[in-house]
Amino acid sequence: TAQSDPGKTYVIATDVTFAPFEFQNEQGDFVGIDMDLLAAIAEDQGFRYEIKPLGFNAAVQALQSRQVDGVIAGMSITDERKLVFDFSDPYFESGVQMAVAEDNDDITSYEDLRGQRVAIKTGTEGAAFADSIKGRYGFTTVTFDDSASMYDDVRTGNSVAVFDDYPVLLYGIAQGNGLKTVTDKEAGASYGFAVSKGQNAELLGMFNAGLANVKASGQYDEIIDTYLGEGA
Ligand code: GLN
Repeated sequence: TAQSDPGKTYVIATDVTFAPFEFQNEQGDFVGIDMDLLAAIAEDQGFRYEIKPLGFNAAVQALQSRQVDGVIAGMSITDERKLVFDFSDPYFESGVQMAVAEDNDDITSYEDLRGQRVAIKTGTEGAAFADSIKGRYGFTTVTFDDSASMYDDVRTGNSVAVFDDYPVLLYGIAQGNGLKTVTDKEAGASYGFAVSKGQNAELLGMFNAGLANVKASGQYDEIIDTYLGEGA
């Protein structure tokens, strides 16, 4: 198997804000499930890295053009992406859900989106899902680069709904972001760490080995609990 270069600092790209997976705390540090998991895995495996919060689509583009070594960004393992990226073992199950403004009682189903505007994030599973049903339900979409801007657009009433990953929607709703869900979540893919296809096999190997170790040691559960557990 490939050996890691001990002097190398891997450059890992991520989303700008996708709590509870990556976000800045009050000190300005990047924290969250992805950030803490990567830190624990790097410590376990003894590699160095630097985080680049580029935004989701920009991170994926940077990886595709090999400007960065990897992406961890609540990135879903999809068949389409597997053509261009190699993914780690899955580390979190997710899926897409719709949310509307807390005080909106008019939208209770996809049928109610007819003639309305819906916020989506460029290059995401949520955007792909919305695009796949917008013809049938007769709505239009408006695109953003980050989740915070999508949620703002719904709060101000410019869009009536947003499609995003349900753990992120539910975390934001629990924090009082002014949104609510009214429909069930859709089946979705699990999150994985990605590298360019055929590149950085040593990094992917270390990620998988470290993931198995932090799961076995209980560190993985501790990280999940920190952000999603009772009292989180
Ligand atoms: N899980 C979604 C995807 O991979 C969204 C990721 C994100 O917005 N950071 O498309």
